[in-house]
Amino acid sequence: MQQQGQRTPIESGCPDGFQYMHPLMRKNYGNWAYHEDPRPGVLKHTAHGGEAIYTVRAGTQRILDVFTLRKLCDIGDQYAEGYVRLTIRSNIEYMVADGSKVEPLIDALEKEGFVVGGTKNSVAMISHTQGWLHCDIPGTDASGVVKSMMDELIDEFKNWNMPNRVHITTSCCQINCGGQGDIAINIQHTKPPKINHDLVANICERPSVVARCPVAAIRPALVNGKPSLEVDEKKCICCGACYPPCTPMQINDPEHTKL
Ligand code: SF4
Ligand code: SF4
Repeated sequence: MQQQGQRTPIESGCPDGFQYMHPLMRKNYGNWAYHEDPRPGVLKHTAHGGEAIYTVRAGTQRILDVFTLRKLCDIGDQYAEGYVRLTIRSNIEYMVADGSKVEPLIDALEKEGFVVGGTKNSVAMISHTQGWLHCDIPGTDASGVVKSMMDELIDEFKNWNMPNRVHITTSCCQINCGGQGDIAINIQHTKPPKINHDLVANICERPSVVARCPVAAIRPALVNGKPSLEVDEKKCICCGACYPPCTPMQINDPEHTKL
Protein backbone atom coordinates (compact mmCIF):
# COMPACT_ATOMS: atom_id res chain seq x y z
CA MET A 1 0.00 0.00 0.00
CA GLN A 2 1.24 3.49 -0.80
CA GLN A 3 2.54 5.37 2.23
CA GLN A 4 2.25 9.10 2.39
CA GLY A 5 5.05 10.78 0.44
CA GLN A 6 6.18 7.61 -1.34
CA ARG A 7 5.83 6.72 -4.96
CA THR A 8 3.02 4.38 -5.98
CA PRO A 9 4.08 0.73 -5.78
CA ILE A 10 4.44 -0.94 -9.15
CA GLU A 11 3.91 -4.56 -10.05
CA SER A 12 7.58 -5.22 -10.68
CA GLY A 13 10.65 -3.64 -9.15
CA CYS A 14 11.76 -2.80 -5.66
CA PRO A 15 9.75 -0.71 -3.20
CA ASP A 16 10.40 2.97 -2.73
CA GLY A 17 13.88 3.11 -1.20
CA PHE A 18 13.38 6.42 0.57
CA GLN A 19 11.47 4.79 3.40
CA TYR A 20 14.60 2.79 4.34
CA MET A 21 17.12 5.62 4.05
CA HIS A 22 18.92 7.20 6.96
CA PRO A 23 17.01 10.46 7.69
CA LEU A 24 20.12 12.56 7.09
CA MET A 25 20.54 10.98 3.65
CA ARG A 26 16.89 11.61 2.88
CA LYS A 27 17.24 15.22 3.95
CA ASN A 28 20.32 15.83 1.79
CA TYR A 29 19.25 13.77 -1.18
CA GLY A 30 20.75 15.26 -4.35
CA ASN A 31 22.65 17.81 -2.31
CA TRP A 32 25.98 16.14 -1.53
CA ALA A 33 29.08 18.27 -2.11
CA TYR A 34 32.01 15.83 -1.83
CA HIS A 35 33.20 12.65 -0.15
CA GLU A 36 36.38 11.63 1.66
CA ASP A 37 37.94 8.32 2.64
CA PRO A 38 38.95 8.59 6.30
CA ARG A 39 40.20 4.97 6.45
CA PRO A 40 39.75 1.71 4.50
CA GLY A 41 36.12 0.60 4.52
CA VAL A 42 34.77 4.01 5.55
CA LEU A 43 33.34 6.82 3.42
CA LYS A 44 32.41 10.28 4.66
CA HIS A 45 29.93 12.25 2.54
CA THR A 46 29.47 15.95 3.23
CA ALA A 47 26.45 17.91 2.01
CA HIS A 48 26.51 21.50 0.73
CA GLY A 49 24.97 22.63 4.02
CA GLY A 50 27.83 21.04 6.02
CA GLU A 51 26.04 17.94 7.37
CA ALA A 52 28.07 14.73 7.05
CA ILE A 53 27.32 11.02 7.12
CA TYR A 54 29.72 8.10 7.51
CA THR A 55 29.31 4.78 5.72
CA VAL A 56 31.03 1.69 7.11
CA ARG A 57 31.29 -1.19 4.62
CA ALA A 58 31.73 -4.86 5.51
CA GLY A 59 31.87 -7.87 3.22
CA THR A 60 29.34 -10.67 3.61
CA GLN A 61 29.12 -14.20 2.27
CA ARG A 62 26.18 -13.08 0.05
CA ILE A 63 23.99 -16.12 0.73
CA LEU A 64 22.99 -14.91 4.15
CA ASP A 65 21.36 -17.26 6.63
CA VAL A 66 18.83 -15.76 9.00
CA PHE A 67 21.18 -15.97 12.01
CA THR A 68 23.89 -13.95 10.26
CA LEU A 69 21.32 -11.42 9.06
CA ARG A 70 20.00 -11.01 12.59
CA LYS A 71 23.53 -10.58 13.89
CA LEU A 72 24.29 -7.91 11.28
CA CYS A 73 21.03 -6.11 12.09
CA ASP A 74 21.68 -6.31 15.84
CA ILE A 75 25.09 -4.71 15.27
CA GLY A 76 23.31 -2.00 13.27
CA ASP A 77 20.86 -1.35 16.09
CA GLN A 78 23.45 -1.42 18.84
CA TYR A 79 26.47 0.31 17.30
CA ALA A 80 25.06 2.21 14.31
CA GLU A 81 21.83 4.12 13.85
CA GLY A 82 19.55 1.34 12.65
CA TYR A 83 20.01 1.87 8.91
CA VAL A 84 21.76 -0.51 6.55
CA ARG A 85 21.87 -1.22 2.86
CA LEU A 86 23.24 -4.12 0.85
CA THR A 87 25.36 -3.36 -2.20
CA ILE A 88 25.40 -5.15 -5.53
CA ARG A 89 28.73 -6.74 -4.47
CA SER A 90 27.27 -8.32 -1.33
CA ASN A 91 28.61 -5.77 1.11
CA ILE A 92 26.54 -4.49 3.99
CA GLU A 93 26.84 -0.76 4.67
CA TYR A 94 25.95 1.02 7.90
CA MET A 95 25.26 4.74 7.83
CA VAL A 96 25.96 6.88 10.91
CA ALA A 97 25.72 10.64 11.34
CA ASP A 98 27.75 10.54 14.55
CA GLY A 99 31.45 10.08 13.63
CA SER A 100 32.31 8.81 17.13
CA LYS A 101 30.32 5.64 16.36
CA VAL A 102 32.56 4.59 13.47
CA GLU A 103 35.41 2.90 15.38
CA PRO A 104 33.17 1.02 17.91
CA LEU A 105 31.05 -0.16 14.96
CA ILE A 106 34.12 -1.48 13.13
CA ASP A 107 35.32 -3.19 16.32
CA ALA A 108 31.91 -4.86 16.77
CA LEU A 109 31.87 -6.09 13.16
CA GLU A 110 35.42 -7.43 13.32
CA LYS A 111 34.79 -9.11 16.67
CA GLU A 112 31.99 -11.09 14.98
CA GLY A 113 34.29 -12.07 12.10
CA PHE A 114 33.09 -9.60 9.45
CA VAL A 115 35.73 -7.89 7.34
CA VAL A 116 35.62 -4.12 6.86
CA GLY A 117 37.05 -2.71 3.63
CA GLY A 118 36.37 -2.65 -0.10
CA THR A 119 36.61 1.11 -0.65
CA LYS A 120 38.95 3.33 -2.67
CA ASN A 121 41.97 1.51 -4.20
CA SER A 122 41.21 -1.89 -2.71
CA VAL A 123 39.97 -5.11 -4.29
CA ALA A 124 36.19 -4.78 -4.00
CA MET A 125 34.07 -7.77 -3.01
CA ILE A 126 33.84 -10.17 -5.92
CA SER A 127 30.42 -10.19 -7.57
CA HIS A 128 29.20 -13.50 -8.84
CA THR A 129 26.40 -15.35 -10.50
CA GLN A 130 24.44 -17.77 -8.41
CA GLY A 131 23.97 -20.90 -10.45
CA TRP A 132 23.18 -23.37 -7.72
CA LEU A 133 20.37 -21.26 -6.33
CA HIS A 134 18.41 -19.95 -9.29
CA CYS A 135 19.73 -21.28 -12.56
CA ASP A 136 19.23 -24.70 -14.13
CA ILE A 137 22.39 -24.59 -16.25
CA PRO A 138 25.47 -25.03 -14.13
CA GLY A 139 27.23 -28.11 -13.03
CA THR A 140 29.46 -25.82 -11.01
CA ASP A 141 28.94 -22.59 -9.09
CA ALA A 142 30.65 -19.28 -8.62
CA SER A 143 30.07 -18.80 -4.89
CA GLY A 144 32.55 -21.37 -3.64
CA VAL A 145 35.22 -19.96 -5.95
CA VAL A 146 34.53 -16.47 -4.62
CA LYS A 147 34.89 -17.67 -1.05
CA SER A 148 38.28 -19.23 -1.73
CA MET A 149 39.50 -16.23 -3.74
CA MET A 150 38.40 -13.69 -1.13
CA ASP A 151 40.18 -15.75 1.53
CA GLU A 152 43.35 -15.17 -0.50
CA LEU A 153 42.59 -11.50 -1.20
CA ILE A 154 41.49 -10.49 2.29
CA ASP A 155 44.41 -8.06 2.78
CA GLU A 156 43.72 -6.45 -0.60
CA PHE A 157 40.09 -5.96 0.50
CA LYS A 158 41.04 -4.50 3.89
CA ASN A 159 43.79 -2.17 2.68
CA TRP A 160 44.50 0.38 -0.01
CA ASN A 161 47.27 -1.58 -1.72
CA MET A 162 46.15 -1.50 -5.32
CA PRO A 163 47.07 1.13 -7.97
CA ASN A 164 43.32 1.65 -8.48
CA ARG A 165 40.00 0.10 -7.48
CA VAL A 166 39.75 -3.50 -8.72
CA HIS A 167 36.41 -5.13 -9.54
CA ILE A 168 36.44 -8.90 -10.05
CA THR A 169 33.48 -11.01 -11.16
CA THR A 170 32.96 -14.73 -11.45
CA SER A 171 30.39 -16.64 -13.52
CA CYS A 172 29.42 -20.28 -13.35
CA CYS A 173 29.06 -20.91 -17.09
CA GLN A 174 30.10 -19.45 -20.43
CA ILE A 175 26.74 -17.74 -20.90
CA ASN A 176 28.24 -15.51 -18.24
CA CYS A 177 25.10 -13.69 -17.15
CA GLY A 178 26.85 -11.56 -14.54
CA GLY A 179 30.45 -11.24 -15.57
CA GLN A 180 31.20 -7.55 -15.88
CA GLY A 181 34.31 -6.34 -14.09
CA ASP A 182 37.96 -5.37 -14.54
CA ILE A 183 38.77 -9.08 -14.23
CA ALA A 184 36.11 -11.63 -15.20
CA ILE A 185 36.62 -15.23 -14.12
CA ASN A 186 34.61 -17.93 -15.86
CA ILE A 187 34.32 -21.27 -14.16
CA GLN A 188 33.81 -23.82 -16.87
CA HIS A 189 33.67 -27.45 -17.76
CA THR A 190 36.66 -28.49 -19.78
CA LYS A 191 35.13 -30.91 -22.24
CA PRO A 192 31.97 -31.17 -24.40
CA PRO A 193 29.15 -33.38 -23.14
CA LYS A 194 29.51 -37.13 -23.56
CA ILE A 195 26.17 -38.38 -24.89
CA ASN A 196 24.47 -41.50 -23.61
CA HIS A 197 22.74 -42.35 -26.90
CA ASP A 198 20.69 -45.20 -25.42
CA LEU A 199 18.76 -42.77 -23.25
CA VAL A 200 18.27 -39.68 -25.45
CA ALA A 201 15.16 -40.92 -27.30
CA ASN A 202 13.43 -41.91 -24.08
CA ILE A 203 14.28 -38.90 -21.93
CA CYS A 204 14.90 -35.86 -24.11
CA GLU A 205 12.76 -33.52 -26.15
CA ARG A 206 15.36 -33.22 -28.90
CA PRO A 207 14.22 -29.90 -30.43
CA SER A 208 14.37 -28.26 -26.99
CA VAL A 209 17.92 -29.50 -26.50
CA VAL A 210 18.97 -28.26 -29.93
CA ALA A 211 17.38 -24.87 -29.21
CA ARG A 212 19.08 -24.64 -25.85
CA CYS A 213 22.63 -24.51 -27.19
CA PRO A 214 23.89 -20.90 -27.31
CA VAL A 215 26.32 -21.66 -30.18
CA ALA A 216 24.16 -24.03 -32.25
CA ALA A 217 26.53 -26.94 -31.72
CA ILE A 218 23.83 -29.63 -31.32
CA ARG A 219 22.16 -31.44 -34.19
CA PRO A 220 19.65 -34.31 -34.31
CA ALA A 221 21.30 -37.56 -35.38
CA LEU A 222 20.52 -41.27 -35.77
CA VAL A 223 22.93 -43.35 -33.70
CA ASN A 224 22.75 -47.15 -33.79
CA GLY A 225 19.37 -46.80 -35.49
CA LYS A 226 17.93 -44.69 -32.67
CA PRO A 227 17.06 -40.99 -32.70
CA SER A 228 19.72 -39.16 -30.76
CA LEU A 229 21.84 -36.00 -30.88
CA GLU A 230 25.37 -35.09 -31.85
CA VAL A 231 27.62 -32.24 -30.79
CA ASP A 232 29.98 -30.31 -33.01
CA GLU A 233 32.89 -30.29 -30.59
CA LYS A 234 34.69 -27.52 -32.47
CA LYS A 235 31.79 -25.17 -31.72
CA CYS A 236 30.93 -26.37 -28.21
CA ILE A 237 31.95 -23.93 -25.45
CA CYS A 238 31.37 -26.51 -22.69
CA CYS A 239 28.74 -24.36 -20.99
CA GLY A 240 26.52 -27.20 -19.76
CA ALA A 241 23.25 -25.60 -20.91
CA CYS A 242 22.19 -28.79 -22.70
CA TYR A 243 22.43 -30.94 -19.58
CA PRO A 244 19.33 -29.74 -17.64
CA PRO A 245 16.82 -30.45 -20.44
CA CYS A 246 18.60 -33.69 -21.36
CA THR A 247 20.57 -35.48 -18.66
CA PRO A 248 22.08 -37.98 -21.13
CA MET A 249 24.24 -34.99 -22.27
CA GLN A 250 26.74 -35.80 -19.53
CA ILE A 251 28.96 -32.76 -18.90
CA ASN A 252 30.23 -33.67 -15.45
CA ASP A 253 32.89 -36.20 -14.89
CA PRO A 254 35.46 -36.69 -12.19
CA GLU A 255 38.41 -36.22 -14.49
CA HIS A 256 37.42 -33.02 -16.29
CA THR A 257 35.13 -31.20 -13.87
CA LYS A 258 37.43 -29.70 -11.31
CA LEU A 259 38.89 -26.38 -10.46
S1 SF4 B 1 26.62 -17.69 -15.34
FE1 SF4 B 1 25.50 -19.29 -16.47
S2 SF4 B 1 25.11 -20.95 -14.96
FE2 SF4 B 1 25.69 -19.12 -13.83
S3 SF4 B 1 23.73 -18.19 -13.27
FE3 SF4 B 1 24.43 -17.21 -15.22
S4 SF4 B 1 23.50 -18.38 -16.89
FE4 SF4 B 1 23.31 -19.61 -14.98
S1 SF4 C 1 27.79 -27.73 -23.53
FE1 SF4 C 1 28.28 -27.46 -25.71
S2 SF4 C 1 26.69 -28.55 -26.77
FE2 SF4 C 1 25.94 -28.24 -24.71
S3 SF4 C 1 24.77 -26.34 -24.80
FE3 SF4 C 1 26.86 -25.78 -24.19
S4 SF4 C 1 27.89 -25.30 -26.11
FE4 SF4 C 1 26.03 -26.41 -26.65
